[in-house]
Parts: sequence; structure tokens; C-alpha cells
Amino acid sequence: MDFVHSNLQVLQRQLSWVSTSDVDWQLWVQGSSWTVAGWEIYLLLRQYPLYSLPSPPPALSAHISQDTFEKSQKYGKDKARLQIFSKVYGQVVDSAMLAFGFYPWCWKASGSLVERVGFPVQSYVITHSIAFCFLLAFLSSIPSMPVSYYSTFVVEQKHGFNKQTPKLFFEDIIKGYAVSVALGAPLLAVFLKIFDWAGERFVAFIMLFMLGMQMLLVVLYPTVIQPLFNTLTPLKSGEVRTRVEALASALRFPLKHLYEIDGSKRSSHSNAYFFGLPWSKHIVIFDTLLEQSPAGDVEAVLAHELGHWYLAHPTKMMAVGQLHMFSILAVFPAFLHAPAFLRAFGFDFSGVEGGAGAVKGGGGGGGGGEGEIPTILAFLLFQMVLMPMEAVVSALMSALSRRFEWEADRFACEIGEVVRKTNSKNSSGKESEGKEGEGKEGEGKEEVDVSVYSDIGDRLARALITLHVKNLSTMHVDWMYSAYHHSHPTLLERLKELEVLGKKKA
Ligand SMILES: [Zn+2]
Repeated sequence: MDFVHSNLQVLQRQLSWVSTSDVDWQLWVQGSSWTVAGWEIYLLLRQYPLYSLPSPPPALSAHISQDTFEKSQKYGKDKARLQIFSKVYGQVVDSAMLAFGFYPWCWKASGSLVERVGFPVQSYVITHSIAFCFLLAFLSSIPSMPVSYYSTFVVEQKHGFNKQTPKLFFEDIIKGYAVSVALGAPLLAVFLKIFDWAGERFVAFIMLFMLGMQMLLVVLYPTVIQPLFNTLTPLKSGEVRTRVEALASALRFPLKHLYEIDGSKRSSHSNAYFFGLPWSKHIVIFDTLLEQSPAGDVEAVLAHELGHWYLAHPTKMMAVGQLHMFSILAVFPAFLHAPAFLRAFGFDFSGVEGGAGAVKGGGGGGGGGEGEIPTILAFLLFQMVLMPMEAVVSALMSALSRRFEWEADRFACEIGEVVRKTNSKNSSGKESEGKEGEGKEGEGKEEVDVSVYSDIGDRLARALITLHVKNLSTMHVDWMYSAYHHSHPTLLERLKELEVLGKKKA
């Protein structure tokens, strides 16, 4: 820990120019956010004309009727048009909020609010910070609400995907706010407390805290949060249940519950996923997937999903996320102790410089308490500064996620082999290390019949095509758009790969 700390201090010395130089950080944020928005609009404009192509890609033409193809093109075009509009509109709103001093205003307004209910802002910086975050989140979500309403009730409606009623739409928004206040307020309080308490050494503690929160969410999300929005019911016994249970048991997947979710309550887009703690997992299948695909194909989709588990993809993703978080936190102190940085955004904490007492309530922003710059403001503005780097990180994360999708597809194709190995080496326990579950069947058996999995690649391909066609997903995809945005390889790429894997097996 000391090694990390001393290295972080070296980094801080190298970044000390932040607190002394007169960089126009607001100009930087404006310039870089317009650059990123411009790039993303450029990508949308590359993708847009593909929705006017008259026929599907040759590899898909056998699986899709001309009529369905035309429907998907129209749907894609409508969505892309809305995306372009919403990108430009969102950027103009964000940019105006920054230019017209919305953030300092919000800090001041939330200060008056908490003072009115009896918390003087000088001694209740954390209360003030929490009020600020909620006011900011609430006010800045208003401009995008009409776009989201239009998307659901005009675009999705027109193409037959919307299952939501306006009542449900607004209920979801209110529930969303309620959940974020109930969960967010205490978490934010602890987060800010750690900064106060740990001082210079906050990096390690914040990392631990974030990790703990992620674990907590894994437990809370399915048990407390998701039931507010959807209903999960135990999957009825039948072919799907039998197949999925057999598959989970053959892989030593610690399956605790198998659910069906009423995803169709809101939309007809469909999927399946798993979650839970390492020793107790839940699988959730969308009712739409169950309706659209035969049991064997649903099983193939689950084989892909279980591949993500077997290959520890969520854990790897989380590790990368932690590393990302660490690098952000490591740079942050340079911005935390820099009044000039906040001044660039219209906050006035001039009295703070040199550790003297803050000028309280003065200027555009008003002071923090105890002669300190409020951590929350520095953190918020720091994240805006990082925006262009974050765009690159998110593209890299998408690339990693696509790589994991390839691996899970390959896993599904080779699942027979994996099941055979897992079960034959089970007695020695080596092969299935860390993957012990409540495997009932394979245990002690000499040989498991894996021939049932021989055609699983074909079934996965069929399920993917069905999902794609039923969702009217985009058929022609611009490679640059896909490389930047997509967390999954395109359908065409996946089908090609599945075919290659199938031939290899044969
Ligand atoms: Zn996947």
C-alpha cells in the first residue's frame, strides 16, 4: 500500500501544474465535447445511408424475406434519424448548461434548499453535496425526456415494439428517481466521507468501497431493484427447464434459480442472462425468447451465456473496470486541490487558496465548508475534463466485450468437449476447480452423452438469426460505427465464425 502511495505522490508532483497554471478548462471541455460529438455524428452519418440499400447482405438473404428486410431498414432509418437529432440536441443543451453557468447556479440553489430545511452549508458540506447531485441529475434529465418519450411512443410504437403505456413510462421514471435517492444518497455520503477521513490516502479506500458496492448491487439488484420494474417467475417445468438444468449441472454451474422475466411488459426485444454470487447463480430468460425460439435453440443461447461464466468474463470485465477507476482516482488529487480549476467553470473559491478559510457564500458559487473545496464539485468537473479519454476507453471496452462474445460463441460450439472433460476429470477435481456446484448428474458417471451438443453451433446460429429478425435489427453495419459502438460482433461476423467452427468440428 505504501509503495502505491509513494508512486501516486510522484504522479501528483508531476501534475502540480494543474493548480498553478491558467488553463481554460471550460474551453477544453467545450472543445473536446464538441469534438467527440462531431465524431459520433460522423459515424451516424456513415451508417445512415446503409438503411437505404435495397437488399439484405447475401449471407442473410436466405434467412429473411424481402418484406421483413424492408421493415428492418425503415425501423433502422427512423432510429438513426432520432439518434442524430438527439446527439446534436443533447450536445447543444450540455454546452449551453456549461456556458451559462448552470453548474454554479445549481450549487447555489441546492445550498439555499438545504439551508431552508435547517442545515447551514458551512457545516453540512456532505448534505449540500448530496442535494446538489440530485438537483443536478433531476434538472439535467428533463431535456432528454421528450426524446425518450418520442422514441418509445412514436418510433418503437410505429414498428410494433412498444408495449409500454404512458402511465408505465412515467411510473418507471418516478421509481427510477426513488431508487437512486434511496440508494444513491447513503452511498454518496459514504463516498464523500471517505475522502474527508482518508485524506491523501483515499485511492485505496475508495477502490475498496466501490468494489464492496458492486458486490452489494449484485445482491440487491435482483432481489430488491429489479422486482420493482419486472416480474420474475420460476420457469415452468418443461423441455427448456430440463435442458438448461442439465446443461448447468454438466458444467458445474451453481444454478440456484431459473426464472422467466416479463421483458415483454415494456418491449419485444429479447435476451437471457445470469447473475448472482460465485456460489449461487440465477439464470433469467426473457419470455420473448421463450416464445420465439424452440427449446433447443434457447439452450444454445444459454450455452453461450454460460460460456461467459465459465471463462470468467464478468470478473475480467470488473477487473478492467477497477483498473480504469484506479487510474482516474490516481490523477484526481491534482484537480481536487486546485481552486483555479473550479474558477474556470465559474465557481469562486478564491479564499481557499493557501489553505486559508473559505470565502463563504461569496461570488457565483458560494464557499464550501472548513476552507476546503467541495470534493463533489471537483470530481464532477474532473470527469468532464476526462470526457475525450473516456470516449477512447469506452471504445476499447467495447472491443474487449466483442472479444468475449467471440470466446463465448466458440465455447458454445465446443461445449460437448468441455462437458466431457469436466465430467471425466471430476473425480480428480482438477479440471473443475472453482466451478463446483450442485452437480447431481455427471458425478461418478464414467461417460456423459455429449452427442446432444453436437449441433449446438447451428442452433445458436438459428437463435441469433431469429432474435435479429424479430428485433428488426440492423442488417448492414458500417465497420467504423460498429468498431466504436458495438459491444457485440455483428450478426454476419458471428454467423461466419460459427460456420467455420462447425466445419472444423466436422
Ligand atoms: Zn454474450
